[in-house]
Amino acid sequence: MVGSQDRGERELAEAMRQGMRRRGEQAFGEYFDRHGRSCALGAAYDGMYLLPADPGKARPQQLDRLFECLEGTVRRCPHAGCRKKLALGVIIVHLNDDHRWTREQIVDWLVGPSVADATH
Ligand SMILES: [Zn+2]
Repeated sequence: MVGSQDRGERELAEAMRQGMRRRGEQAFGEYFDRHGRSCALGAAYDGMYLLPADPGKARPQQLDRLFECLEGTVRRCPHAGCRKKLALGVIIVHLNDDHRWTREQIVDWLVGPSVADATH
């Protein structure tokens, strides 16, 4: 099944891009905050489901099922000097909240060379 995982990550990145267009600013510590901002995973959820302007307590409960790569892929944290290895979905939240990566940086990493290299 080489390749299906890459496609999952590319779809995840694309959903994140769409979600970022819908909510200009980035949230930290929660998927959506009360100012209408979204974190990296919140943006992916938003991109998939086109949530209302006020998502309220929406939580990406089904996101893992949509994107198997979130749970099924273990990635090393790409932040310089950080040695954490976690499930992709956890790494994305970790980059967003702990390293304060922008969603753009996270998308670029998702579709970066390590993914592209394995694409046929
Ligand atoms: Zn890290």
